[in-house]
Amino acid sequence: MIKAFEQYEVWFVTGAQLLYGGDAVVAVDGHSTEMVEGLNASGKLPVKVVYKGTANSSKEVEAVFKAANNDEKCIGVITWMHTFSPAKMWIHGLQQLKKPLMHLHTQYNAEIPWDTMDMDFMNLNQSAHGDREFGHICTRMRIRRKVVVGYWKDEETQRKIAIWMRVCAGWADSQDMLILRFGDQMNNVAVTDGDKVEAEQRMGYHVDYCPVSELMSYHKDIKDEEVDALVKIYFNEYDHDAELEDKNTEAYKKVWNSAKAELAIRAILKAKGAKGFTTNFDDLGDVNVDETGNGFDQIPGLAAQRLMAEGYGFGAEGDWKSAALYRTVWVMNQGLPTGCSFLEDYTLNFDGANSSILQSHMLEICPLISAAKPRLEVHFLGIGIRKSQTARLVFTSKVGTGCTATIVDLGNRFRLIVNDVECIEPKPLPKLPVASALWIPMPNFEVGAGAWILAGGTHHSCFSYDLTAEYWEDYAEIAGIEMVHINKDTTMSEFKKELRMNEVYYMLNKALM
Ligand code: MN
Repeated sequence: MIKAFEQYEVWFVTGAQLLYGGDAVVAVDGHSTEMVEGLNASGKLPVKVVYKGTANSSKEVEAVFKAANNDEKCIGVITWMHTFSPAKMWIHGLQQLKKPLMHLHTQYNAEIPWDTMDMDFMNLNQSAHGDREFGHICTRMRIRRKVVVGYWKDEETQRKIAIWMRVCAGWADSQDMLILRFGDQMNNVAVTDGDKVEAEQRMGYHVDYCPVSELMSYHKDIKDEEVDALVKIYFNEYDHDAELEDKNTEAYKKVWNSAKAELAIRAILKAKGAKGFTTNFDDLGDVNVDETGNGFDQIPGLAAQRLMAEGYGFGAEGDWKSAALYRTVWVMNQGLPTGCSFLEDYTLNFDGANSSILQSHMLEICPLISAAKPRLEVHFLGIGIRKSQTARLVFTSKVGTGCTATIVDLGNRFRLIVNDVECIEPKPLPKLPVASALWIPMPNFEVGAGAWILAGGTHHSCFSYDLTAEYWEDYAEIAGIEMVHINKDTTMSEFKKELRMNEVYYMLNKALM
């Protein structure tokens, strides 16, 4: 259905045993084949399901799970017990399995055939029984997994499988994720910092420092013709004043230089196989760039906007956790209709029940969330080491519900904080020509912002209209990190209790590991 996930597979393994004879296993195999074909034909699943046969013994379970670990296409395993499958035979396999696990509690037939059901039928169709046995051993072994309960042909069941598949794709992508930091973090900022070793162990991504001078070695190799061609694309893709195309103006030069910056950043990301990057407005190459040409003459905000839309992770001011998380959001969001972006809490608007937060940044907001065609504009930007006329895409976001997320490092663990939000119609901002969104955090501004702050959440977050908290629940389960979800039902007193309980849980959990 979606090309972005074509390189991936999810494996389907059916548990059985030989107690009921070879014929029973043949029937289980036939039903499983039909179910997997049905799931693939539903058009609801973003990743192809591949049936890997029945597992009838400890050796067979171990063999198929080891194969899953070693197959790069395989991003997750779905298990289902058609008939009874004594769970001790799953122990060795589950000890080995490194890929995300979903336990699908379903049944081949929807209803009991009341008039014809006999003992043979009941023995064959006993997932009600077998799935509990399998669930027990997973819980006994503390195996993290998603349990989906429902008839396999039902849309709701397929919707849950689809969500988990997208998360598995994001997870697989992040196991091979390199984030480049051009320059270091903005000095003295706490929340954007954290333990990169633990991040690689937990979330999979690798974070490297890259001197701006190295980026500049790519910058100087960019050909003028390439830049001219990209500027043409800008003028085709975005609304703009006709004067902006006048090559004799400073504004045109700024657009041109922005295009060159975009080409340079993309070139180094490609050369190094990086999936995301951070910038730092205090480190843009030579300070005397006008003489040496060995630096950016403006913050590469337009480049960040466009590269985000293309799928590169981005975090401002060296925020590598947000860069990596945005990349994961973008992957999970592939093919979904409404879009995603890196955002920053900027300014509050107190307005009773409609009190809201302006989400913006200096420039770096992804145009995938724009309500209309973005406008390419050039304005003065007085922040950072290079105070300059600066090219950017200007737009306001779509109106509608969404979900935003961030990961913070609490010292002993990572915490994923998720907040449902409602994007509302902003008023015009004639003196603030940047991209922005305006939202009310759920359940309302007071509790939403209060809970986020108590949880230690960043001012940066990764937002999507299409992803819901269910995606993040699956993600946190796979990663084995804490997640707190601020939503329409959140109250401060219950939320505080949850944070306190989690503190104890994760302290004990760490001790057990
Ligand atoms: Mn920022």
